[in-house]
Amino acid sequence: MYHPNREIKRTLEQWYSSGEAPPAIFELYPTKKCNLSCRTCIQHELQKKNVAELTDEEFIRIVREAIEWGVAIFYIGGGGEPLLRHDLVIKLIELIKENRRGGSLTTNSTLLRESDLEKMVLMGWDDIHISIDGPTAEINDYLRGSGTFEKAVRALGWLNKYKSRHGNRSATEPFLNLNFVISKKNYRFMLDYLRFARENNADYVLFNPMILHDPSRSYLQLTERDWEEVKVIMDQARALAGELNLRTSLGDIGEPASGSGKKGEGPSPSMNDSGALPPWNNLKNKLHEMLKGKNEKNMSLENAFCLKPWYHFVLHSDGYAGPCCIYKNPEINVRGRPLREVWLSEFFSQLRRAMLIKALPPSCRACPPIMLEEDLRLKKTLLRMR
Ligand code: SF4
Ligand code: SF4
Repeated sequence: MYHPNREIKRTLEQWYSSGEAPPAIFELYPTKKCNLSCRTCIQHELQKKNVAELTDEEFIRIVREAIEWGVAIFYIGGGGEPLLRHDLVIKLIELIKENRRGGSLTTNSTLLRESDLEKMVLMGWDDIHISIDGPTAEINDYLRGSGTFEKAVRALGWLNKYKSRHGNRSATEPFLNLNFVISKKNYRFMLDYLRFARENNADYVLFNPMILHDPSRSYLQLTERDWEEVKVIMDQARALAGELNLRTSLGDIGEPASGSGKKGEGPSPSMNDSGALPPWNNLKNKLHEMLKGKNEKNMSLENAFCLKPWYHFVLHSDGYAGPCCIYKNPEINVRGRPLREVWLSEFFSQLRRAMLIKALPPSCRACPPIMLEEDLRLKKTLLRMR
């Protein structure tokens, strides 16, 4: 089933008790290419690079291995539009669900077919994220390209049709998330967007402030003055979301902090060579104590810079891997290598060690604050879970 935090907790406990564990979440990017060229995205730059993508067989082999090893949740998304490799994605979705694992698909929805959505409803696919950047064609299409609003609304219509038709089998899945990148063009329409989301039976709205990747798009970036207005609109939007009974990420958004990630020196706990936490005898309340660092070595995952290397595996379309969407190691490739060997490789082990002693590699030193905030929220949630 699909409970990411519960799976992360289980995985951390397994690291602690067994010295190794498969990732709880396996995120895969079938392609870096995209059929759109949204103004807030870096995609047009990425497409200039020629990438030798993993074949369908290689993706399927590694996902099978992940399933056999016990990975619970798969996210299909990535730096491009996954459905450009339509048949592969549908095969992966079927494989994941046949094996009763949880799954999420992030898509711009323009390449979704009606039959895909019927299939996902019937199999109880857990989660679908559809990106729409405005409540009208005028706003969305300015940001995402002509005709994209109409195609997205068409996909929402199909999803709702099959959810209501097959409601006796799967009334709620897939859980519908709408993704909205907040920019200068659309921030004044956040309230209308919530109404649009409700009309289309969304379960969750993910608002994310635009990250400026390309200086030529700075005309879309929120200024400090815009942020003053955005904060007022977000207050109104929180109230409206409550009235509409709609969950959103609004509680998690802060004005972007300047600079990169946190820095600092921490204690230097000893670790074994695999980068795993050393075994610890008293396993009672182990997760809580592990996170709080109450063991005899004062080892604290709570103070680890980031938990991702213990639970999150990202496979890029070219076979390179890393612990998150932004950190991929140019030497770690799954081509011809078992997943287990890659996840327990020296690269990941050193990274886990580095997180504990805060001797960070350059990618982590430059980690976007939004990722670190997500990590902090995860740690707080884990501490509340018993
Ligand atoms: S659809 Fe997604 S990946 Fe493609 S250009 Fe737009 S934001 Fe980027
Ligand atoms: S880049 Fe950020 S999210 Fe990725 S592993 Fe490093 S600290 Fe964690």
